[in-house]
Amino acid sequence: MGDPPTSPGRPATAREIAAAVRSGRRSARSVVDKYLEAIAAGDGDIGAFNLVTAARARARAGEIDAAVAAGKDPGPLAGVPVALKDNLCTRGVATTCSSRILEGWEPPYDATVVERLQQAGAVALGKTNMDEFAMGSSTENSAFGPTRNPCNPHRVPGGSSGGSAAAVAAGFSPVALGSDTGGSIRQPAALCGVVGVKPTYGLVSRYGLVAFASSLDQIGPLTTTVADAAAVLDAISGPDPRDSTSIDEPQPPVSATLDGGVEGLRVGVLTELNGDGIAPDVAARVRVAVEALQSAGARVGEASVPASVYGLSAYYLIAPAEASSNLARYDGVRYGLRVEGPSTAAMNIATRSAGFGDEVKRRIIIGTYALSAGYYDAYYGKAQRVRTLIINDFASAWERFDLLVSPTSPTTAFALGERTADPMAMYMSDVCTVPVNLTGQAAMSVPFGIGDDGLPIGVQILAPALGEPTMFRAAAVLEASRR
Ligand code: GLN
Repeated sequence: MGDPPTSPGRPATAREIAAAVRSGRRSARSVVDKYLEAIAAGDGDIGAFNLVTAARARARAGEIDAAVAAGKDPGPLAGVPVALKDNLCTRGVATTCSSRILEGWEPPYDATVVERLQQAGAVALGKTNMDEFAMGSSTENSAFGPTRNPCNPHRVPGGSSGGSAAAVAAGFSPVALGSDTGGSIRQPAALCGVVGVKPTYGLVSRYGLVAFASSLDQIGPLTTTVADAAAVLDAISGPDPRDSTSIDEPQPPVSATLDGGVEGLRVGVLTELNGDGIAPDVAARVRVAVEALQSAGARVGEASVPASVYGLSAYYLIAPAEASSNLARYDGVRYGLRVEGPSTAAMNIATRSAGFGDEVKRRIIIGTYALSAGYYDAYYGKAQRVRTLIINDFASAWERFDLLVSPTSPTTAFALGERTADPMAMYMSDVCTVPVNLTGQAAMSVPFGIGDDGLPIGVQILAPALGEPTMFRAAAVLEASRR
């Protein structure tokens, strides 16, 4: 397992690029030039990037080629282009979260993941479009205009990491990073037909990720193959003293056990996430995926996680509550935009009114309400108790199963504009993905065939905390058995 067979026209995987660059068979500069050309030719129609840092990328590629020429090893991702979601801090390079309020702000430091990718030899191509502050499921909430799905430009790429998913799907970059608070890596991965991983909470440092909901946020890779996702996760994960929630003990690399297969693994079909509201074509593909795992030797059963049906309700209180607190820092003093007013308070209000888009304001209002005296117990407190119920119900499921399976998204990519007027319809896109953010567990989306409309379908594999090695083995089996 690992890399698919080479064929003319199939873009190289990240692992193939790194192998070629490390051995001197291909220059990092030629790799980077090729991707920059693809972006220049195609991104006008897709809108995956907020910013392309071409000159920096070429300079960095030159450094890598010089290292190879000098007999040094630039690292496991040598010369691999990466696209970074625009909520990852990049030193001296604008980081906007696709919001007017951060326009013009250049972070004074790199996120840990950006630093680690660089140490592994990767080359950043630029910053990708997203729903403003990662709030959304379609990338239509960006202040800079939507991203389009490369599989069909009238459809959304999903969100909030829609720019990252589209960049990989369009062949603008072999690798992208996204962030996942309620599904924002997995859902766009599913809608664009790429692999997307939400690691266990604490496996990847959040230092330098602009906070949305700190108890839920995780950074993870989007790639074309499972093996590439493993390679990137191995490069970015691990303890970080600058994130107090990062897990202290180093974990074994997932790449090492990718081809372990699923023989004897107990795989549960997650009852509550495979029923009502899932489109028939999506449900059918999940059944085929389960059969594929079974034919590969997994023992399959029904797994009920009763409280998971309350995941969405709990999420849409907890995430806005945390967001309302995290976004208080955009006050016109410390970052980006300032709209002057007759007093400091008036300046704060004018800045926030002009700088935030509608969805962000909606979240701040919901979150502030849920946290306010008199409503805290009824909303935020209740949601936290539901979160505990969900954690307990999953814990019971993990006594009987090693992995769980569900759709990633209830439908394939929907049309641009289809859900923008109806926030509830938009929130429903996350029904299958939010539960694991509430529990902190690992989950990933693997592309697994197409729906009635010819658009990609993703299957979600869920694992207990730090179950990445097993999760990736199942993902590799699904990828190999894709039919
Ligand atoms: N779509 C969800 C939301 O709008 C999840 C976002 C995310 O994971 N960042 O909150």
